[in-house]
Amino acid sequence: MADRAQYDAVELAGIRDAIVRGDVPLCPRCHVPMSTRPIGGGSFGLGYARRREWLICSRCRRSAIFDIRRGTRN
Ligand SMILES: [Zn+2]
Repeated sequence: MADRAQYDAVELAGIRDAIVRGDVPLCPRCHVPMSTRPIGGGSFGLGYARRREWLICSRCRRSAIFDIRRGTRN
């Protein structure tokens, strides 16, 4: 059966780092690119200082949700 355990804290931090860098995050278990689905209230361009990303591994089906802060580029 599939192992449904979630990522641990170190794995989550690695995924977050990839997102923040603008890279496609790889599943730390499977080393395959993860699918990204933005989660929003249905509208964009609200000037929100953060966005929420839902990362899903298509192989092991683990997923994780991150709040990514924006506006730090200068
Ligand atoms: Zn995986």
